[in-house]
Amino acid sequence: MFAVQSNYPLDKLNTLHLKSIAKKYFALTDIADLPQITAEAKESPIFVLGGGSNIILPEVYQGLIIHNQLRGITLIETTDEFVLVKAMAGEVWDDFVGYTIAKGWFGLENLSLIPGTIGASPIQNIGAYGVEVKDFIESVEVYDSKNKQFSQLNNSDCQFKYRDSYLKHNLHLIVTSVTFRLLRMAKLNTNYVDVAKALAELTNPTAQDLRNCVIKIRQTKLPDPAVIGNVGSFFHNPILDMALVGQLQEKYPTIPVYPVNDEKAKVSAGWLIDNLSLKGYRQGNVGVYDKQALVLVNHGNATAPELLALASYIQDKVWTNYAIRLNIEPLIVPEKHKNYEK
Ligand SMILES: Cc1cc2nc3c(=O)[nH]c(=O)nc-3n(C[C@H](O)[C@H](O)[C@H](O)COP(=O)(O)OP(=O)(O)OC[C@H]3O[C@@H](n4cnc5c(N)ncnc54)[C@H](O)[C@@H]3O)c2cc1C
Repeated sequence: MFAVQSNYPLDKLNTLHLKSIAKKYFALTDIADLPQITAEAKESPIFVLGGGSNIILPEVYQGLIIHNQLRGITLIETTDEFVLVKAMAGEVWDDFVGYTIAKGWFGLENLSLIPGTIGASPIQNIGAYGVEVKDFIESVEVYDSKNKQFSQLNNSDCQFKYRDSYLKHNLHLIVTSVTFRLLRMAKLNTNYVDVAKALAELTNPTAQDLRNCVIKIRQTKLPDPAVIGNVGSFFHNPILDMALVGQLQEKYPTIPVYPVNDEKAKVSAGWLIDNLSLKGYRQGNVGVYDKQALVLVNHGNATAPELLALASYIQDKVWTNYAIRLNIEPLIVPEKHKNYEK
């Protein structure tokens, strides 16, 4: 018999702290429960929740929230060059990053302090400071709630792209664990200007120094969700054709541009919003963070419709001024949706 709870409050389980209630809630601590809990829930929608740091929850979720709390870390293989280490989906991402560095397993340093869980890390291929998690993922183990079987996807099956993956579009795949291929010898990635500057002040910086720098930079730039509700970057940086980028650079010489390839470049969405003087802008309970225009915040008691109204106001302004469509990064969870097995 499963301990499914009714009318469960989710305010503390999403980093935006939006007011939200789940009709049904189940804390998943044993992987063996997955087949039965998903089968039993088949009449109601299912949503897998990790740390709630990349979602916009509705006021009432009409289905079953499966809150992933699967824990455990296992060393699978070790050679002179690399280790394969498997982490269960409910492990806290940043705790795992700290753990790997302490063990002398390297690669994830630049991804320090990203909130959330291991299980969500491949979903949008988390990235920061010049590194994406895809470069360190060996395989992802999933429970397929449609075909009712456990299986494994290798790195190429996941079809990782910028903040995107195959998993993101196939939510019937519930991630149970992720296996990482990490380096035995640190190879510090200091491509990002702020990181390079901070590390240049140290002699022979270590991976732990790099982690400390990233943490420090993030703490000055991003609001702590424990203090003010947010989901980090609210919009994707748009990837544009070089022709349009050239026109923008002519008009706005200081606009930050990051080349993707010969034909496309990524443009800073935060800069586009900031340039419209929207930093610190407020609409009732929600607003644009006053230190970083890419972050939308909950000033208290906000609901999803209020936040989405602000997002749409910003999207319209950006469209009118630059003819660029900004896409929302966090997943907007509908009140009710069809299950994928139907
Ligand atoms: C302050 C702040 C800073 C951030 N900085 C960054 C950053 O630098 N880079 C970056 O990429 N992201 C960043 N994020 C976004 C977020 O932290 C990541 O996307 C993170 O991976 C989400 O993890 P989560 O466990 O909270 O996922 P949730 O928000 O709970 O879920 C996100 C999505 O993943 C799905 N999901 C979660 N767990 C599973 C699972 N086990 N199986 C299948 N699906 C699952 C959910 O159903 C949902 O669709 C930031 C967020 C905040 C609040």
